[in-house]
Amino acid sequence: MSDINEIKTFAVIGAGTMGREIAQVALMAGFQRVVLNDLRMEIINDGADYIFDGLKKLELKGDLKKGFTANGLMEKLERELGLKNAVKEADFVVEAIPEVMRLKQDLFRKLGEFTPTHAILATNTSTMSITEIASKSGRPDKVIGMHFFIPIPLLRLIELIRGEKTSNETVTITIQVGKQLPALKGKRILPVIEKESPGFIVNRLNISMNVYLNWLLDEAVKNGIPCGQIDADVTSFQSMGPYAKWDYIGLETIYNTHKYFEKVISPDFAPGKTLTKLVKEGNLGRKTGKGLYQWIERKPIVDTTKKAGLFNFDLFFALQLNEGCRLLEEGIVSGYKIIDDTMLAGMDMPGPFAAGKRNYKKWTKLLDDFVEKSGKDYFKPCELMKSGGFLKMRK
Ligand code: NAD
Repeated sequence: MSDINEIKTFAVIGAGTMGREIAQVALMAGFQRVVLNDLRMEIINDGADYIFDGLKKLELKGDLKKGFTANGLMEKLERELGLKNAVKEADFVVEAIPEVMRLKQDLFRKLGEFTPTHAILATNTSTMSITEIASKSGRPDKVIGMHFFIPIPLLRLIELIRGEKTSNETVTITIQVGKQLPALKGKRILPVIEKESPGFIVNRLNISMNVYLNWLLDEAVKNGIPCGQIDADVTSFQSMGPYAKWDYIGLETIYNTHKYFEKVISPDFAPGKTLTKLVKEGNLGRKTGKGLYQWIERKPIVDTTKKAGLFNFDLFFALQLNEGCRLLEEGIVSGYKIIDDTMLAGMDMPGPFAAGKRNYKKWTKLLDDFVEKSGKDYFKPCELMKSGGFLKMRK
């Protein structure tokens, strides 16, 4: 396959939080057929209802492409329970099943068997190695990471990640596909991450903030402080507090990310007690109706009338700056501008380097204090951050 015009059938495997929104933007991009697959028809149907609601809202606001209607686009959506049928004519597949290596490898083995040989196989993994996921596919040159950010129809970023064997052609076509998927905030931003590393850019920085959020949550629970009060510390700056966002994303996704980092980088990334308990109980947030909050009609019930005054914004950015500097030290990216641009597009908030240029000395001290309080040595400031050496590494 040499260009995007040959892509007629776009298949999405997994119709959960991510898969349904990926299928929605594939429909909005104008692909001829979009096939949605999952393990149970109720999930596919629920995903299809969600897509219709999303498209209808956009149609009413005049945000669909000229000539497109929600009903017209829904006619191109096919619901298919059997994997073989779902992908037998697929030209481009995106996988969005749970963040568990064994499951993903097994699926890619089947995709290698069932899809036409020209098909590109993308994984929406948020953290894991593309090379490992591709290893059983029989065509690692056609496997690529395509990491989306929710809400997918709104936010511009899709991180593209090469595995060791991903071909240039696969990267080129995936960039073309990414550009075609509409985002309300503007043109898609598609950084290509050439060197694999856990969490790529955004989640590598996010996970260090999440370590702080886990620690803070466990401290709050110990002291009888509801997490809504910590979200209230933040909501004057952002529409959604960090714990409501966890529920929105899915607590097991956050949990699995910590488990993966705990294994591949440091035990200091282990998920906190409160998060672990909720996941073990099956309280996963928005998708189950209960997590850190109760969810009614897809909205969390959060009392933000009282603030805890506990959330430390400087520490939040200091942890990100440190992790960003490690990405520079490890040669994952060559300059910090790409990190700040990527964070802005994926998280809708500034990256750590713009403010870090002025604050890195103060933030170094904050990290030292956090390490002392939490006992998590991994978060000691790295050399590039402490020394300010990153200042010379903009591009
Ligand atoms: P989810 O649990 O909401 O959805 C996963 C779906 O996959 C479920 O409906 C499940 O029934 C289905 N499934 C499981 N095994 C399957 C199989 N073999 N074949 C077909 N369907 C199968 O999870 P999610 O939040 O959509 O996450 C999916 C992937 O996207 C994960 O790798 C996650 O790390 C990644 N991701 C998630 C987010 C987020 O914000 N939730 C963001 C970026 C990336």
